[in-house]
Amino acid sequence: MDNVSLKRLREWFKKNAAALPWRPVDLDAPREPYAVWISETMLQQTQVSTVRDYFVKWMKRFPDIGTLAAATEEEVFKYWQGLGYYSRARNILKTAKTVAAAGREMPRTRKELEALPGIGAYTAGAILSLAYHQREAILDGNLVRIFSRLYALDFLPTDKAPAETYWNYAREIATSPKAYMHNEALMELGRTVCKVKNPDCSHCPLHGICRAALENRTAEFPPPKSHTQKDWHGTVLVIESSDRKILAVHGGQKFFKNQFTLPHFESPRNATAGLPAAAEDYIDADSVCSVESRGSFRHGITIHKIECDVLLIRLGTSAANATRHLAMQRGAHPKFEFKWIEANTAQEALANSFSLKALGKAFG
Ligand code: SF4
Repeated sequence: MDNVSLKRLREWFKKNAAALPWRPVDLDAPREPYAVWISETMLQQTQVSTVRDYFVKWMKRFPDIGTLAAATEEEVFKYWQGLGYYSRARNILKTAKTVAAAGREMPRTRKELEALPGIGAYTAGAILSLAYHQREAILDGNLVRIFSRLYALDFLPTDKAPAETYWNYAREIATSPKAYMHNEALMELGRTVCKVKNPDCSHCPLHGICRAALENRTAEFPPPKSHTQKDWHGTVLVIESSDRKILAVHGGQKFFKNQFTLPHFESPRNATAGLPAAAEDYIDADSVCSVESRGSFRHGITIHKIECDVLLIRLGTSAANATRHLAMQRGAHPKFEFKWIEANTAQEALANSFSLKALGKAFG
């Protein structure tokens, strides 16, 4: 992006930046890294209007990383309750404990940040750029939408090569002086002007360089997500208590939203062995006796071409004693329910073929 456009973007941002509890009045002031981390994590999948109050209450109770690291999981979940995506809160606490135990502040390199639980490329870029004023790229949904329209990109960053095209535009912004302000201004522009529907191009500082606007084709960009068949790779958990009961859950799952099923979540191929972090949404790691990989199966649901790894997790506690985490999960997801099913009746109780295939792998 040329210097004149960047200057216009900065001027627009200075006039239009919304007052937010995590944004200093002086837009040139470096932010507190802890506050950037918490606010950006809360903002993943959640609207600004919802996050405001949560952030204020959180910062009153946990004003710094040391205070947070000393908190209990129950209390952290209490302050997160209602924001959803419960694993974000658990990862925040894990990261706080890791950083505090090392007697450090938030790391200053992308490599170190991305090694911490729950911090991915986007959050790492936000901390480095907004807090430490490093020339680091940020790419979130707002920037994807803006880049797609500015440069008439008719593909989404869904696989490696197209994602790199978007990242290259983000890196170009990051090389500019005051990159921290350009990054934040683009996020704000996407939220308030270059909206998903009906972008307000007449009030956009980038109108003069925007191909989609100049060609009157804003509705074409970004292209809709493909509804052709989608590959989905995940892990399904067969959790067996010491009194031979199987955990079934309802709500908060990718598939089977309206019935009891086995817990499952998206995961990469060749995931590392052992207990995956996502399993701790359901069980206390200390109660686990063994984790056994039981192979994988293929399955099709609507447009999803599924390949699922099966993990058989045996607990050293009875079903009645294994409910602490489940009760907290219910607090975080009001619609979440669970029940323990006698192992010898699980096939009849979970009569969907996805669960049957998983049970077949676990006990076959
Ligand atoms: S001119 Fe319109 S489409 Fe282009 S970036 Fe601005 S708001 Fe978005």
